[in-house]
Amino acid sequence: MGRPKKLTPQVEKAPPRLAGLMDLLPEQHASWDVFMEKLVSLAHTFSYAKITTPLFEDSRLFRFWSQASDQLLVFQDGKNNLAVKPSNIFSLARVYLEHQFAEKERVTKWYYQSPVAWLNQQNQLRQTTEYGLQIFGAIAPIADAQLINLLLKLFTELGLTSLSLQVNSIGCIECLPEYEEQLKNYFKDKKYDLCENCLDAFDNNHPLEILGCNNLSCSTAAADAPTLIDYLCENCRRNFIGVLEGLDELGVAYNLNPKVIGKPWSRRTVFEIRYQGPTSEVVLGFGGHADDLIQSLGGVSTQALGFAGTLDMILAGFEAAGVKFVHKNKVDVFLVPLGDLAAKKTLRLFTELWNHHIVASEFIGPGSIKTQLKLAESNKVAIALIIGQKEARDGTVILRDVRSGMQELFTSERIIEEVKKRLGK
Ligand SMILES: [Zn+2]
Ligand SMILES: [Zn+2]
Repeated sequence: MGRPKKLTPQVEKAPPRLAGLMDLLPEQHASWDVFMEKLVSLAHTFSYAKITTPLFEDSRLFRFWSQASDQLLVFQDGKNNLAVKPSNIFSLARVYLEHQFAEKERVTKWYYQSPVAWLNQQNQLRQTTEYGLQIFGAIAPIADAQLINLLLKLFTELGLTSLSLQVNSIGCIECLPEYEEQLKNYFKDKKYDLCENCLDAFDNNHPLEILGCNNLSCSTAAADAPTLIDYLCENCRRNFIGVLEGLDELGVAYNLNPKVIGKPWSRRTVFEIRYQGPTSEVVLGFGGHADDLIQSLGGVSTQALGFAGTLDMILAGFEAAGVKFVHKNKVDVFLVPLGDLAAKKTLRLFTELWNHHIVASEFIGPGSIKTQLKLAESNKVAIALIIGQKEARDGTVILRDVRSGMQELFTSERIIEEVKKRLGK
């Protein structure tokens, strides 16, 4: 028999991340987790309950979803046409109807975070996590102001202090069509100043989208366009005044912005919350009413008010504001094993500390004991438990007060009691 042949695995390079998708690394997770923790705590304070809907739905559910040239991500499961949800609101409306929430409660208040995906204009896959708050049912006019107030509190408390609130009303099924007619007339002889998207919007009878376009030539063309506020029906006008009065009452500053047109399913109040950074402006999310949605999906006329944003928006906001969060692990005790036998002994010690609700962390990084103890001190850990070869053999543990450097030897039986005493547990 000769020498055994050395075996090597077959190498095939891992394909890279797909364009348009993101990995959420630990340092980004810290910021997102802090954001979600705050959202959850505020949501509970204001009686919103958590809801999660599936990633896929029957694609017909999303027939109102049209975002300029973005497309649904559709596929077949053999007999049905399915789609990945591009936004949560449609699934929420379906759940509201399917589980008959209207019969169970007067007002349904939900918060959520869930992945969403779609194909963008360049036919690239886009995926992110959408977060939001949604209300269905009997919504008092003051609710818009209350929701906005909650959101401003959420962002401000997370260090996004320089906020602007952009508000508009885009009317309802009664007054919006007449306004759209006026807009079409207005843009008729300005068609050739419009960008490709706006020209499409014009041809497809969505002239409102032209108002939202930030293209210079489109903005210039829209400069003297009739404003929707002048065309609101009496109900919408009163409703909008109610919202603005609510904001005044709360002392919330706002900017009436006719360029904020919401989504294709928006009705009445629409708003955006933006972070105004020193060099950039970041939209943190969109809100407003979708009062025809439930009825369009076969339910009775039901008011809907919500706000939604994405993970990317929040991370961009934190970046623009220079706000950084780090994961803080609260550690009570650092374990320092020296050598293999000692490492084995710390396994049991770790478990015993854990059983007594004492959080221990082990030094696993490189560096001398000295640098590691410095690390413990900078992490505000008061106690280090050191086990060397001798202690491992004798069944003892050295307890070191990290700040003073004082050391004492204890038996393995006594060490837990001593740690508890020193931690005041
Ligand atoms: Zn109206
Ligand atoms: Zn345009």
